[in-house]
Amino acid sequence: MCGIIGYLGYREAYPILISGLKKLEYRGYDSSGIAVFFENGYNLYKTKGRVHELEQKISSYRIKIKGTMGIGHTRWATHGIPDNINAHPHVSNSNELIMIHNGIIENYYAIKIILLKNGFTFKSKTDTEVLVNLIEYIKEENKLSLKEAVRISLNEIVGAYSIAIVEKSHPETIVIAKLGSPLSLGINEKEFFVSSDPISFIDYTKNVLYLKDGEMAILKKGKELDLRKIIDNHRLNPIIKQLKINLKEIEKGKYKYFMLKEIYEQPKTILDTLRGRLLIPEKIICINGIESNKNIFINAKCITIVACGTSWHASLIGEYLLEELARVRVEVEYASEFRYRNPIVGEKDIVIVISQSGETADTLAALKLAKKKGAFVFGICNVVGSSIARNVDAGAYTHAGPEISVASTKAFTAQITVLILLALIIGRYKSTINENRYKFLCEELGSIPEKVDYVLKTDDIIKKISQIYHNVNNFLYLGRGINFPVALEGALKLKEISYLHAEGYPAAEMKHGPIALVDETMPVFVIATKKGYYNKIIGNIQEIKARKGKIIAIVNEGDIQVNMLADHVIKIPNISEIFSPLITVIPLQLFAYQIAYIRGKNVDQPRNLAKSVTVE
Ligand code: GLU
Repeated sequence: MCGIIGYLGYREAYPILISGLKKLEYRGYDSSGIAVFFENGYNLYKTKGRVHELEQKISSYRIKIKGTMGIGHTRWATHGIPDNINAHPHVSNSNELIMIHNGIIENYYAIKIILLKNGFTFKSKTDTEVLVNLIEYIKEENKLSLKEAVRISLNEIVGAYSIAIVEKSHPETIVIAKLGSPLSLGINEKEFFVSSDPISFIDYTKNVLYLKDGEMAILKKGKELDLRKIIDNHRLNPIIKQLKINLKEIEKGKYKYFMLKEIYEQPKTILDTLRGRLLIPEKIICINGIESNKNIFINAKCITIVACGTSWHASLIGEYLLEELARVRVEVEYASEFRYRNPIVGEKDIVIVISQSGETADTLAALKLAKKKGAFVFGICNVVGSSIARNVDAGAYTHAGPEISVASTKAFTAQITVLILLALIIGRYKSTINENRYKFLCEELGSIPEKVDYVLKTDDIIKKISQIYHNVNNFLYLGRGINFPVALEGALKLKEISYLHAEGYPAAEMKHGPIALVDETMPVFVIATKKGYYNKIIGNIQEIKARKGKIIAIVNEGDIQVNMLADHVIKIPNISEIFSPLITVIPLQLFAYQIAYIRGKNVDQPRNLAKSVTVE
């Protein structure tokens, strides 16, 4: 994970680096650093902590950082604890090379041993410091240019990286390279912006080049971009695209945190996911990537869905949807497990990969493995042009707009929306849904944004419930059928941003263990929708009440029975059970937000986490 940034041009680099790093903090924020270059020297500052702490530290020195070229980093530690020494940039032994890095050098230890034998010393525990010294070693031993030394060194590396490196004595050149971690380049006449994510330079340019894996570029002041293949130095033609991000989408507006803004955006984002794909009057659903591969979907004997975290919960919901509507067997896998087994997927199989960022390292590796085994890979991601989007055979974007908060909310409901469309289309092709049900479901799908809007208005009730339980340390979340993954997601949201212990369970499984935890101090969320397994859920609620647990129930409007049993109820509109996760998850997202807010946590940037997990 982590974010890297660079600037080379005619403006002062320091403010560009700082403001860019702030926009990249969603990728990592345990330490940060910058280096700004001037003729034959540089100013380098780094610190444990957030970018604003770096800024404060620098301003306390009362120095003016001047220079029109620089690099910066916000870290999510993989090798070595977050501290001032392990923070990037890292400097080579001779003090000549200065580098920032996102990723993991897997064979760093073997290289470190060789370098130690050759007299190198190390200050930090990072893999990054090993790489910058390897480059120095290869450069000096073979009397090479920086570019050539970088290229040869990277050919020795196992792992993932996006890097930017500068030579102190040539402060007019930055060399950048990428394999496995994202890297984009903003290009204006006479200036270059380097970043893990173009949102950090969108204020300056909309011309962007996304480096592909195995590519490197040499950026020289006043010169044209020199794009190369790392493996053989072959020169490439840069393909520059136009960025289409709306600045409003990456601002908090009236909200205190991005997470709250993103929760409230869901009526719109679900509509955006449906836009142009669901034609309600005609009852037509169309997704190009499915249409053009119709027979593959019709003939599939099994679909494997691979994802991590919240996307994995959306995948479990996809399993219920596809099995129910399209009558196809579905397996859901954690990408990190799938990639290291010898999974049984072959030529006629479909593998669906789901990732908000489209950069999740494990999911990307799973995708590549599935393709190698001959499967047809379909991607569902949010970030346009991301690595996963570029590598799949076909796919559908979620169109939820940039999701900045680390805890995913709107991307989750957008993923479910795509999975609903997918299940309905395949069900229609295969005639596993009868015409009347299909038409009814199309109609109902169109009404979901309005219903989500309605649930958002229950925020006051959720605030009250949060006030009652904000001091509690353990929570249970129960659901059945398609709402079981929603229980998992509700628990995950609370863990991520409040650091509280929460467990999601299929309601009936509770008696096989977790019920032992229930006493008068244990709040239990129960998703008790009318069209689900209502009577069964009532039985589960009775079991918890008999042990004095506190019930917070999510019920449909007009519910009587649960209303009488539960300590608190949150009412949601009626909807077919298979669509209900889009509605039932909303109060759980709001609850997690409120608890974290009351407990004074940094909602958007929870400790130890980062937005896109681009390391394994
Ligand atoms: N492996 C590097 C470090 O630990 C970079 C980490 C990252 O990309 O998040 O500093």
